Amino acid sequence: MYIPLLDLSRQYDFIKEYVDEAIEEVLASQRFIGGPKVEACEKEVATYCECAYGVGVSSGSDALLIALMAEEIGPGDEVVTTPYTFFATAGAIARVGATPVFVDIDPVTYNLDPTQIQDAITDKTRAIIPVHLFGQMLEMSPLLAISRKYGLVVIEDAAQAIGARYRRIYNRNMAGSMGDYGCFSFFPTKNLGCFGDGGMVITNDKERAEKLKILRSHGASPKYHHALVGGNFRLDALQAAIVLAKLPFLDSWIKRRQDNASRYNNLFSSSSLIDRGKVELPEIVTERHVFNQYVIRAKQRDALRSFLKEQGIATEVYYPVPLHLQKCFAYLNYASEDFPVSEQAANVSLALPIFPELTDDEAVYIVEKILAFYQN
Ligand SMILES: *Cc1c(COP(=O)(O)O)cnc(C)c1O
Repeated sequence: MYIPLLDLSRQYDFIKEYVDEAIEEVLASQRFIGGPKVEACEKEVATYCECAYGVGVSSGSDALLIALMAEEIGPGDEVVTTPYTFFATAGAIARVGATPVFVDIDPVTYNLDPTQIQDAITDKTRAIIPVHLFGQMLEMSPLLAISRKYGLVVIEDAAQAIGARYRRIYNRNMAGSMGDYGCFSFFPTKNLGCFGDGGMVITNDKERAEKLKILRSHGASPKYHHALVGGNFRLDALQAAIVLAKLPFLDSWIKRRQDNASRYNNLFSSSSLIDRGKVELPEIVTERHVFNQYVIRAKQRDALRSFLKEQGIATEVYYPVPLHLQKCFAYLNYASEDFPVSEQAANVSLALPIFPELTDDEAVYIVEKILAFYQN
């Protein structure tokens, strides 16, 4: 048995006719930059996220970058974020010349702990970038209260969380729609992936949407007249067509990811692993967790991971080195133990296969092997 962390070919077998047709339409039109597919994709994704405007961009990383550029955040400015995320979150802050300021995470959800944000705010703070890690939104309500109090821009990094929902009691409660900007990635491993790189920024603010559109084409408005320095951050029509063709399936894929998570939870709960303190399961504390990843905490994590690899089971560690300890951020002068919860998570977290097409037999096999590892 070989079980990959993600098997995109199983998904492609299922949607091939729709996706191939969408690609052929673009080929027939020979319209590769901008055009109706990009516009439709922006509209549909924004609508799905219950947000007013969508601006297609070249990647999730560029979505973050262009949002910071639109706010003219740069040298001398500070942006608060989490050290426990994919590099791009803090990378974007550094790339505009601003300073990332890290705040530790909540021990249950791995998401930025909003109760610690206040202490990180200075008169240089311009923005907060919360990350909805693994597919679950963080506690947006206290974060938004702080952002209002200090007049800070909120740029949601929702790359792993398209379709996630916070709490229905709020008027806006979908991932990406609650802050000033919501950033998505269509990287193939995300829940809504394209066939290459792609991303989107969503916003409820018309002026911000217009500025983003100008910035993604070198700041030109009209063509060849540049009031701003932007870049080439466009989403191309082929990728937009693929996203559009896949979007109608997203909810069913999310459902299957959730079902897989429940199946794991049941299998683990009926074993002795939790009682014996060997593994801890992910917790759902918001309305809708979309399980881009199913991450457990495991004793002897690295040995378990090697053992599973020998049994043909792929796993991944998100993330082995928190960002405050990365070499490229040494100039920020953080030290080990500055963010103990993140550092602890880096040592024990383990992502198991959770993709929608994972079978019963595969999930059972994975949990059996984990049980076998701890029996030795
Ligand atoms: C994937 C990801 C990104 C970057 O998206 P790309 O499309 O790969 O550039 C940013 N932030 C988080 C949290 C991600 O998981």
